Amino acid sequence: MAITDYSLKELIQTGACTNCMLCAEVCPAVSAAGDGHLSGVYRLNVLNRLYRARSGFFKRFYKASLNKDFLKGFSDTLYRCTLCGRCEEICPSGISLKDIWISLRQDMVHSDAFPAKVNAIKENVLKSHNVFNEDNSERAEWVSDLDDPPEHGHIKESADVVYFTGCVSSYFPMAQQIPMSLVRIFDAAGVDFTLLGEDEYCCGFPFLGAGLRDRVDEIIQHNIEAVKKKRATKVVFACPSCYRMWKEYYPPEFELYHVTQYITRYLMDGRLKLKDLGRVVTYHDPCDLGRGSHEYDAPREIIRAIPGIRLVEMKRSRENCACCGGGGNLEMIDAALSKEIAGAKIKEVLETGADTVITSCQQCVRTMKGYARLNKIKLDVLDIVELVSKSLKL
Ligand code: SF4
Ligand code: SF4
Repeated sequence: MAITDYSLKELIQTGACTNCMLCAEVCPAVSAAGDGHLSGVYRLNVLNRLYRARSGFFKRFYKASLNKDFLKGFSDTLYRCTLCGRCEEICPSGISLKDIWISLRQDMVHSDAFPAKVNAIKENVLKSHNVFNEDNSERAEWVSDLDDPPEHGHIKESADVVYFTGCVSSYFPMAQQIPMSLVRIFDAAGVDFTLLGEDEYCCGFPFLGAGLRDRVDEIIQHNIEAVKKKRATKVVFACPSCYRMWKEYYPPEFELYHVTQYITRYLMDGRLKLKDLGRVVTYHDPCDLGRGSHEYDAPREIIRAIPGIRLVEMKRSRENCACCGGGGNLEMIDAALSKEIAGAKIKEVLETGADTVITSCQQCVRTMKGYARLNKIKLDVLDIVELVSKSLKL
């Protein structure tokens, strides 16, 4: 354990908590588990005690109670969090809670008090370069399922745009419609793009969430070089977590776009012609695109540009949008809790009367679709690129 796991800002901010409890009130994990130990306010309380146990006059008084068993139990609560950022959004003291949760997880890894699943994430990414321990040479296998796959398999020598696919869309059958749809859209708009194929490594976001921040640099360096080799100037992402990771942790070498920001231009200049879909939809803001990247408008502009679509908002949307349960590696750590959170989300979706929930994230699609299927709920769950692809007039 080390105080150096925290930035000076984080150390100062920890003392600014007023115990107002608002973070606990809005936390989806606290509500779903009915356990206040999962709340931000509890974590900051423990963190303050950790600081004191490591330095200062009262060191010996705190050290005894913060023993290995306590840290193990605390760590279990810390990883049962989707890193959705609702607590940070509402905190009246302006504490950067999400950054602190990530630093705390790193602290738990350095303190040898972390869930066993963290080792699986580490081994998978270091060995296979993707979070599921799949063969990385099969990253772009979904291309062969396209109606008319090109000979180059969308992996070209060079292109202006690199489409960074992300692990979930590359490997999960439930999410592979997303890259397939995006490729159709790019082709219809005449975008010069390439995939990285096996040269794409996991973006590093699962490492960050697992508390392995000190291992992300090697991944970053590899991906930067892979994009440079393609002589690309732009990188486009359908995954909000990959997008956020590149924006916040990678050196600023390329123009970076989430796909919702990138394809609006082709809708506005009329390059993409759309047909009537006749649906009532609601939109779920993915945590890393909404609260994490402050992009709320681009997806809604796209939805409104599709003829015959009526958009109805959920009770909680934009900054207040409730998490789907799929973030922060929670599904790997506590699948039951992830499902509970997804259940609360789907309930809110159904209250709108919409026949379809649209999102802009493959993990949200997996979580919500998985819950709806398991519980035989009649609801379409689509990523926004699937919606646009269905509406394309080809
Ligand atoms: S990030 Fe989300 S799940 Fe985690 S403590 Fe904050 S509100 Fe709860
Ligand atoms: S919302 Fe902020 S100030 Fe209030 S208890 Fe939570 S961390 Fe502390």
